[in-house]
Formats: sequence, structure tokens, C-alpha cells
Amino acid sequence: MASSGDFAASVKQQADIVRIVGDYVKLRKSGAQNYQGLCPFHQEKTPSFSVHAGNQFFHCFGCNAGGDVFTFIQKIENITFPEAVRMVAEKLGVPMPKVNYSSPEEARRAKQRGSLLDIQERACAFFQEQLKRPEAAHAREYLHSRGLNAETITEFRIGFAPESGFLLRDALRGQFDEEVMRESGLFSWKDKDQLPITSNQSPDVQQRSALYSKFRNRVMFPITTEQGKVIAFTGRTLATDDKSGPKYLNSPETPIYSKSRVLFNLDKAKEAIRKLDYVILVEGQMDCITVYAAGLRNVIASSGTAFTDLQARLLGRFSKKIVVNFDPDTAGAAAAERSLALLVSGDFEIKVLTLEAGFDPDLYIRKRGANAYIDALTHSQKYFDYLIDRARGMYPSRTPESKQKALNYLLPHIQRVPSRIVRDELAIEVSHRLGIESSVLRQELRHAATSRSAGRITAPVSTQLTDAERVLIRALASRDLAHSPTTAREGQDLDFDPARQAHYFLTQERLHEGFGAHALLDALITAHEQSLDPMSLPLDDNDRHLVASVLMEDHEELTPELVENAVRSLRKSAILRQLDNLQQQLKDAERRNDAALSARLLQERMRLRRSIGSAVEGPRN
Ligand SMILES: [Zn+2]
Repeated sequence: MASSGDFAASVKQQADIVRIVGDYVKLRKSGAQNYQGLCPFHQEKTPSFSVHAGNQFFHCFGCNAGGDVFTFIQKIENITFPEAVRMVAEKLGVPMPKVNYSSPEEARRAKQRGSLLDIQERACAFFQEQLKRPEAAHAREYLHSRGLNAETITEFRIGFAPESGFLLRDALRGQFDEEVMRESGLFSWKDKDQLPITSNQSPDVQQRSALYSKFRNRVMFPITTEQGKVIAFTGRTLATDDKSGPKYLNSPETPIYSKSRVLFNLDKAKEAIRKLDYVILVEGQMDCITVYAAGLRNVIASSGTAFTDLQARLLGRFSKKIVVNFDPDTAGAAAAERSLALLVSGDFEIKVLTLEAGFDPDLYIRKRGANAYIDALTHSQKYFDYLIDRARGMYPSRTPESKQKALNYLLPHIQRVPSRIVRDELAIEVSHRLGIESSVLRQELRHAATSRSAGRITAPVSTQLTDAERVLIRALASRDLAHSPTTAREGQDLDFDPARQAHYFLTQERLHEGFGAHALLDALITAHEQSLDPMSLPLDDNDRHLVASVLMEDHEELTPELVENAVRSLRKSAILRQLDNLQQQLKDAERRNDAALSARLLQERMRLRRSIGSAVEGPRN
């Protein structure tokens, strides 16, 4: 039974990263094993995005994005690791392994998920049926008063939960067992000891009778997955008293429903979002349905809570352009603010549609019509223009202090933008729009805006390395190259394993100690010993940059001589460094007139100087 990890490894082995990245990025061959192109993860005009065919990784020297074929697919498609494995497998035509449950518990859970999906579907059909009954006249009345016609009601599968707490239970009983009913989130129950015991019922019936509908006298809006499967409900109360619970009641989280992963209406909107390449985000489900019914099919709702990272990633698969139509100044201000912050960090291009005070999209469309809404939509404002207006509203005075306050209000927003170039542009624009004349202040803003990631974006670092260190890094990372057909040229020494040789010298003599790449070489030594992919090491950004840049360089083929020369060179450098040290100590000794020490150091210096010649031969056994 193959584990999913084995499957991923086998897919990775069969995948050619150059071909797969090539589906997304125009690549140009730039060396024996390297390809270059414009980075899809940041804006650039000259290519700093490289793909290495031998080691099967990509690395961007501009934005530091990097990893293997799965990382690339995850990042560009905005999907999870298992989804990326599946996608690459599909591209290669590799069939997915049959699902094997690793334990009876796992099999039980899979069965439970299936039953939970079934029961939601059955409940949805039940609510739809109920809406047609005479007892639901007030529910239909409510929906018509909100401007929904029969077609929209059917399309959204809107239903009615009757006042009775038992109709749904009785309709589902017999098809689903007690546990599924309880886990469905559709029912509440009282503890057994709170119920009167009736002697003529079996204990089983007594227990079942304890279940009653959570949703009563409510208009029911199904919540679905991206594929349109019903997983939960929102019920809007039709009662006018306060005793019937909240105005909107949502299903609790269940094994199939997690609020933070779902976007209302994504199933119906996704094609339009892709095609139009933007999405309209509204707050409530009713807003969403009205906007959709008005002909704007690319609309989804966040359901009143702050957007989560998962939701942003889910949405990002369809479009990165978003028009946000909720008022960040009203009751949900904190949630709206958090949502927007998340979308900015997620590199979404955001516009804000602000309707006249007192209007939500639903009311606006009903009062002004769909065309007025479409018109308002085309006049939506870029998020940063909106923020600048807001800052000017908060600090209207033209004094330098006031302007500085406005800047400080805007700065954290700017700093959330992932692209440094865009941050810099924003800083310039903000200075301009706020009328900041002080060049010092302007510089300060630009610096603060761009330096947010100063620690992350670094200049090419490989220049800090000696040639010898570079050869040894390449040798140690060459594990996979030995088996790659592109390197198995004719006449090549087949017994020569550069990684093994480099590993031998470095571990025997610890020659790299004290060198710039010391920690990195140690990590590569460990990777070699444990047969790990060097690019999968948990390196810090700087070291990952180093390995990537060394491997991406166009270089001569690794030969035994090249590796030996590198080792000799390290030996020599080590001795020269010792000599430097010695020189320092000698100076100190002479200054202190310590003749004995000076003599000893001079002798040592002579020995070291002589050893430089023999260093190239290696240690004597
Ligand atoms: Zn990049």
C-alpha cells in the first residue's frame, strides 16, 4: 500500500519542472541546465526567474520565490500540496492511486462525510418542498418583498424550515442513523434526564425523540462547496418576536462545513469570475443573491465575517481582482478592515465601491435598479485612493504635523503590499496626493515603505564566495545530476561521484570551518548523508539564495580535478588564515617584549609557511 508521500515522490521524479513551468512562463535556455524567464510571482522587466533542469528546482533572484515543481504549482495555482500533486499527476497522465484507508477510523470518517453530504442534500430538498406549501405563504411573501422571483428562488435552492421542530426529523429518520442526524448540525436535543420517561417507549425511541429542528420558521439559504454540494444553511427568521433567536442563524461547524473555507455563491460565480477576471465581494447573502439576479454573475459574499487566508487563497484561484462592496465605516468596520488587509497582503488588486449612506447593494438595486448599480460599479475607487481620501478626511489640516499623521495612518497599509516596486510607487503617489513638499519626509516614507522587506531582498550574494566554495557546493548538491541523462556524457568517469568526494574531504579535514559558507556546507553534508534533496533543506533565505545562485551559474563540468583543486585551495586558505592570526599574536608578543612567546610563534610561522607547499598533498597519514 503506497503512502501519499511515496506517490508524490514518484510524480516528482517523473515530472520535468522545465516543461511544467514552461506552461506558465516563457523560458529561455541560459546554460547547460538552466532556463530563465520573467518571474510570474513579481513584476519585472528583466528575467531573474530561473529553473534548473538537473536539480529540478526554480528560484527567483528578485522576489526569492523558490522550490520544487509542487511548490511552483501550489504558488501559481494558489492550491494546497495534495491538490498540486494531483494536478502535476494529471498533467503527466499518471493515474492517482486508489484511496486506501489507513485505519478503520479513517474509513469510518470517510463514510460519515458521505452521509453528512447526503443528509444536507435531503434537508435542502425538504426545505424547498416546504416553501411551496400553504403554511409557507409568509416566507414566499418575504422573498418577493426582497425582489426575488421564482427563477432566482429555484436557482439558489431557497427553502423554508417549518415552525414544527419534528417534521424534518421525521422525514430524515429511517434514512440516516442517529449519529449522522446529530452531527449534521440540523438538530438540537435535550439531555435524556431532562425528558419525562414514558414506560411504553423503548429507550431507542426515547433517545431519538429528543432531537428537534434547530431551524424553525426560517427562510433557508443553502451554503455550498465550490462544486455546488450543500454543506450547511443560513436561516433567516420570519418571526417578529425576540424569542425565536437571532435574525440570521448559521449551521454550526461540522466535519464537512468550516465557515472559514467557504465563499457563498462561489459555485455559481466561478466561471464568470474567471471570464471577467474580477469578483464583486458583498457582505450578506441577500446582497449577493440580488446582485447575481441583477445579472452580475461574478459576485460572492463573505457572510459578514472577516475574510480568512483560506478564503483569499480559494478566491485567488479564479481572479486576483476584486471590487469590495461593503462600507468599511459601518458596524462591520473591524471585519472589513481585516478582510481588506488580508487581500492586500494576498496581492489582490482591490477597488472599493461605496454606495450612498444607508444603502447596501440589495436595497440599492431594488430602489435604483440594476443599471444604476452597474454604473456605480464602474466608478469604484482604487483601494489606495480610497484610503488616501480617508486619511485626508481624518487629518484635513495642511500643517506638516497633520500630513505626517496622515502618512502614519497610511504607512501600515502600504507596507502590507507584497511587491516592493508597488510599495515604492505608492509611497511616491501618497506624497504627491497629500501635498508633501518636504523631501526629507518623502524620502522617509519611501524608505519605510520599501524597507519592510529589506532583510528579505538581498543583492546577489554568491560573489561573497570563493571559487573553491562554489565548486564544493555544486559537488555536494550534485547527487541527482549523476543519474541525469544530460550529464552522463561519453568518456565521463562513471565511478566519480563529486558529492561523495567532496563529502569525504570536508568531513575528514573540516576544511570549510571559518569560511563564509561554513553553515551551508554543513547543511549540504547532512543532506548528502541522509540522501535529502539539497533544495528541500530548511535553509534561511540567504543560504537558499547562495545554493540557487551557485547552481544556476554557467560553469565547467565537475571533474575529480576540479573538486581536488577546490579542496587544495581551501587547505591553503585555512593555512593563510592561521598565518594571519599568528602575525597578529606575534605583533602583540613583540609589543609586550615577550621574547619566549615570540620565538615560539616565529617557529610556528615557519612551519606553517613550509606547509603551504605540502598542503596541496593532503594530510599525512
Ligand atoms: Zn520573482
